[in-house]
Amino acid sequence: LFARPATFIMGAAKIEQLPDPDLPEIAFAGRSNVGKSSLINGLVGMHKLARASNEPGRTREVNFFDLDGRLRLVDLPGYGWAKASKTTVKKFQDLGRDYLRGRVTLKRVYLLIDSRHGLKSVDAEALDALDLAAVSYQIVLTKADKLKKGEGEKVQEATLKAISKRPAAFPVVALTSSEKGLGLPELRAEIMRTT
Ligand code: GDP
Repeated sequence: LFARPATFIMGAAKIEQLPDPDLPEIAFAGRSNVGKSSLINGLVGMHKLARASNEPGRTREVNFFDLDGRLRLVDLPGYGWAKASKTTVKKFQDLGRDYLRGRVTLKRVYLLIDSRHGLKSVDAEALDALDLAAVSYQIVLTKADKLKKGEGEKVQEATLKAISKRPAAFPVVALTSSEKGLGLPELRAEIMRTT
């Protein structure tokens, strides 16, 4: 689907360091350890493009990846780390928020939620920020291979219900497993349609 392999462009730790907004962008957000790096790697069909983080408390930048010179995938810093200091958390929240508010080329955010845990209050805070910034977003449930048969559909329904009154939410909840490749072709096709 993507003609050439994705390439890492840069990581930005400050809003002044973002690349020029000259290509459509699709961003990925979620709690630390939700499976964001694995999903990005799975989507572009490459291993280790986005560093899979073994260290949930690690500080993260906003990472940009180029796809075929026609769109960028944006890996936003994971939130909800138990061990990070308040100042660190605030710094990355501010960076994420500034990016979301001001990015004219941002087409869609995929907000990842672990399908085993469902939507937590820290996720609801992220959704509040997206609704406030009026950025179109879609929920993606991750690690579906860990669920029992039929459980995935239940989590999908419950999540859909929980976001039904949110103004910027796309009324579809995707169910994925990067490990098994479940839901990835659909997501890929959708990204191409959106950009
Ligand atoms: P990130 O911190 O959100 O970037 O999360 P990672 O992609 O680094 O994944 C966190 C952990 O979850 C790693 O141990 C991964 O191997 C695991 N993981 C990620 N995706 C899946 C999945 O689809 N299925 C299963 N079973 N494990 C996954």
